[in-house]
Amino acid sequence: MKKISRREFLKNTGVAAGAAVGGGLLLSGCTSLGKGQTSPFGAKPDPTKLPEKWDLEADVVVIGSGAVGLPAAIRARDAGASVLVVECNYDIGGHAITSGGNVPLGGGTSWQIRDGIQDDPDTLFRDLVDFSVVNPQGAAIYRYNDREIHRVMADNMAPAFEFLLENKVRFVEQPVDNRGANGTGLSAPREVHTIWLDGCSAEAPAGAGGTMLCRDLEVSAREKGVQFLLNYHMDIIFRESLTAGRVVGIQASYTPTILPGTTEPLASFHSNGNITLNAPTVTVKANKAIIVGTGGSSGNVALRRVADPRLTEEIPNSLEEYSPQDGSGELAIIAIGGTLWGTANQTLERWGNLTLSPIVGSRNNYPNVRWDPNTPLLPKIKYIGVTVRSWQNAIMVNQVGKRFYNEMSAVSYPAGTANGLLDNYGGYTQGDWRNGIKLPHAPNNYLDAALALNEGSGPPDYAAGPQWAILDADGVARMRWDLEPSYAVDPNLFFKADTLEELADKISTCTYQHHQMSGAVLRATVERYNSFVGGTDADFAKPTPQYRIEKPPFYAAWNTVQLHDTYMGARINGHCQVLTLEGEVIPGLYCGGESSGGASAHGLARCIAQGYIAGYEAAVTG
Ligand SMILES: Cc1cc2nc3c(=O)[nH]c(=O)nc-3n(C[C@H](O)[C@H](O)[C@H](O)COP(=O)(O)OP(=O)(O)OC[C@H]3O[C@@H](n4cnc5c(N)ncnc54)[C@H](O)[C@@H]3O)c2cc1C
Repeated sequence: MKKISRREFLKNTGVAAGAAVGGGLLLSGCTSLGKGQTSPFGAKPDPTKLPEKWDLEADVVVIGSGAVGLPAAIRARDAGASVLVVECNYDIGGHAITSGGNVPLGGGTSWQIRDGIQDDPDTLFRDLVDFSVVNPQGAAIYRYNDREIHRVMADNMAPAFEFLLENKVRFVEQPVDNRGANGTGLSAPREVHTIWLDGCSAEAPAGAGGTMLCRDLEVSAREKGVQFLLNYHMDIIFRESLTAGRVVGIQASYTPTILPGTTEPLASFHSNGNITLNAPTVTVKANKAIIVGTGGSSGNVALRRVADPRLTEEIPNSLEEYSPQDGSGELAIIAIGGTLWGTANQTLERWGNLTLSPIVGSRNNYPNVRWDPNTPLLPKIKYIGVTVRSWQNAIMVNQVGKRFYNEMSAVSYPAGTANGLLDNYGGYTQGDWRNGIKLPHAPNNYLDAALALNEGSGPPDYAAGPQWAILDADGVARMRWDLEPSYAVDPNLFFKADTLEELADKISTCTYQHHQMSGAVLRATVERYNSFVGGTDADFAKPTPQYRIEKPPFYAAWNTVQLHDTYMGARINGHCQVLTLEGEVIPGLYCGGESSGGASAHGLARCIAQGYIAGYEAAVTG
């Protein structure tokens, strides 16, 4: 193994260890692009102008330490390569550490065999490209999946599961099921669940099942000699030339997380194998290959609007408070000849893409994972939101102050998943065209109502604006909201006023609300809704509205749909090698997970499988 020498770094750069660089002003350089971001397509340094010196080097350089990065790093190390993981956050894990830890890896795993479940790679492959599976929004989940990518993935999913077991990952001892992530086909139960570490802590910043998936893999990686450069954001991938030649290394910039009220960068939970630097930029030479596992582009407003112009800046990105989906991997790949692929998948209105949740007053309103006050990130997140127990207690209005949907049908995921086929609607038969017509569909879903109606939008980007839950003092009392703790709700996202007119004015001060909401419109909306109480909702058919909204003070809470996954990204082949638009391999460059295109399967399974594939290929093929 080639050792990455810190001394070499210091010798070549003259960087003084421990010198604080730009620290005090940064909350975190590793945040999602969003409000006020500049175009990601502007002038960039020339990626073919190689640095005069390399600060660090490794055989395989992995960018990102989430569901792709950790398995990729271990696999490459197992295959004999020296491995350096470059991660922009203060700790490992990315969205994977915030995830529910539901891992649907099938195709004939040892646990499926243990449970007497029939499955094999061919069945899995046909599931993953089955045109006939349609979800309740009418979105075809697997129809636009790239065949080549899924053929190789189906062959590698069962081995990837055994790889997780070999690398210390602990799953709950229970039968394999098909209930959580629903990311990998319906013909057989395929899902296992990592042990859950309850509550937030330094070990579990988001307090989720994905914590132990990542921590277990991390421990294994560190024991095997994988090295980590945390707090560095990859900005450039260098290639010998734009149209030919290998990738040779990267440049990354220092992005410590310094919480408000502190001066020291936040430290990672484990530290053995960490390279600690704080130079403004570093260059890292990749002797064999670079693997991009940067987690997608849902936090990059300009890039996500390539797929769907409705996805304007007010729409939050799941768990953006922990790690970014800023599209930096994709953009660095495009800059050296790569291209996007499979953008149709990003626009599908399905539960895994844009969700509405019962948590309001917080931009992270992902229903299954909620920050708790013990997270070390609380000073950065500030507010964790409150839960709407029943939408009978509130109405929802758009940026102009008008209702637009039956609030009762908008709880949690807009209308379920294709999993419903398994239990309730006659079962799933692979490839049967009738699958697509068995599930009841809700074509006028919440998302379309919120975004496509687009009322009150205007230049320059015609944003649909935020959506707001509106309720009164009685509604707050019925839901037993405790609004006293300072961490409950964000003052930019939660408003209280004595009159509806004053409430509309306060809503209009939200930094994401570009439309001046009219108090008269909001009052007319509430009065019309009140006239339906105890009878029929003539506008949106909410089942017998129960409570009038009339007792001051009145409240407004942020309740905007949220982007969850990225389903488009860099074009790759089955081996996770990055391809140009013409289909040529960019030698030495690999990508997987949410930063890669061609796979619409939600979540961990495809990311882990692609990390597993890419790590091996990078070390062996280079
Ligand atoms: C709340 C939540 C719950 C979920 N639950 C489940 C579940 O139960 N089951 C399931 O299957 N899926 C689940 N998912 C989805 C799953 O976690 C993701 O699909 C998966 O983690 C994506 O893997 P990835 O490697 O592509 O990205 P990530 O896991 O996000 O890793 C990307 C990493 O790259 C880093 N990075 C980004 N840009 C750069 C850069 N330029 N330089 C250096 N580092 C960079 C990021 O900080 C991050 O650490 C969930 C997701 C969320 C947000």
